[in-house]
Amino acid sequence: MPDIAEPIQDIAHLGQVELLTPKPAESLWYFVDILGMEAVHSEGQSVYLRGYGDYATTTLKLTEAPDAGVGHIAWRTVSGPALARRVAAIERTGLGIGWSNGDFGHGACYRFRDPDGHEMEIYYDEQRYEAPESLRSTLKNLPMKFPSRGVGVRRTDHLALLCRDVGANRRFATETLGLKLREQVVYENGTKEIGSWMSSGPVHHEVAYVLDVKGMSGRLHHFSLWIDNREDVLRAADIFMENGVFIEAGPSKHNNSQAFYIYSYEPGGNRIEIYTSGFLILTPDFETVVWDESARGTGVYWGAALPDSFLDYATPAAEAAPGDVPVDPVIDPR
Ligand code: FE
Repeated sequence: MPDIAEPIQDIAHLGQVELLTPKPAESLWYFVDILGMEAVHSEGQSVYLRGYGDYATTTLKLTEAPDAGVGHIAWRTVSGPALARRVAAIERTGLGIGWSNGDFGHGACYRFRDPDGHEMEIYYDEQRYEAPESLRSTLKNLPMKFPSRGVGVRRTDHLALLCRDVGANRRFATETLGLKLREQVVYENGTKEIGSWMSSGPVHHEVAYVLDVKGMSGRLHHFSLWIDNREDVLRAADIFMENGVFIEAGPSKHNNSQAFYIYSYEPGGNRIEIYTSGFLILTPDFETVVWDESARGTGVYWGAALPDSFLDYATPAAEAAPGDVPVDPVIDPR
């Protein structure tokens, strides 16, 4: 039996992601008309969206800003006491910012930063979605009618964050938040941590930290939404092409996570993944899968290779034009 310390089980799941966009109307079109999400509320410079399978009222906040990127990342805890425990742990690291009364759809939340500077928050109280009559599903266990519009994404799955020091952020996520480390890419005889994929529960990963080849902090590599089957990923490709949405990579299959994917850019510039078929991790004594240079290959299990932009483009975009900073060709921030 592997010797595993008593796990922290305080985080329930990735709750909400705020994306920043310099083109709010066009980004809203992408998420509502092309991906099939529902806009439930707008306030100030933000619109709040949801997937039809989300329990919470809102899981994506889209906010107008000068540059694309990630605004904040919110984690829901399993209970009020779990929230208090995690806040105490965060405060011990010195990365805490403080409490707020919460945003639309959420109760009180505690704001903090990860070691790389990405803004995060943690909360328990949230508003469960109550569909208006016109959006009510005839299926008793579905929060909202299937929209029959665009790609029809069901829910948020994960996001990948770039950072300067993967190990520091991985340690914070596992030791302070209590996420489980699922897979890693580590090169140079185990000395260079390129990426770490983590989750709070059976979902393969909810957050990935990957080395920023530009040496910047606080950037987003991609935000990922779940669709139920592979055929719908191929259908998403057709929908993107018919509507002038740039497809950067895929449809192809990852080796890490085993998932089937397509990456596009929403009009504000953020990279968005449509994702399915990743494996679930149910065993409590899962052994982290570590990929080295030879095992990793290109990171694609089958399908087309990832383009250079996948390695050197993230949001906000680097000041320097892509390609004028040497890129390590083996880094693959899926
Ligand atoms: Fe991904």
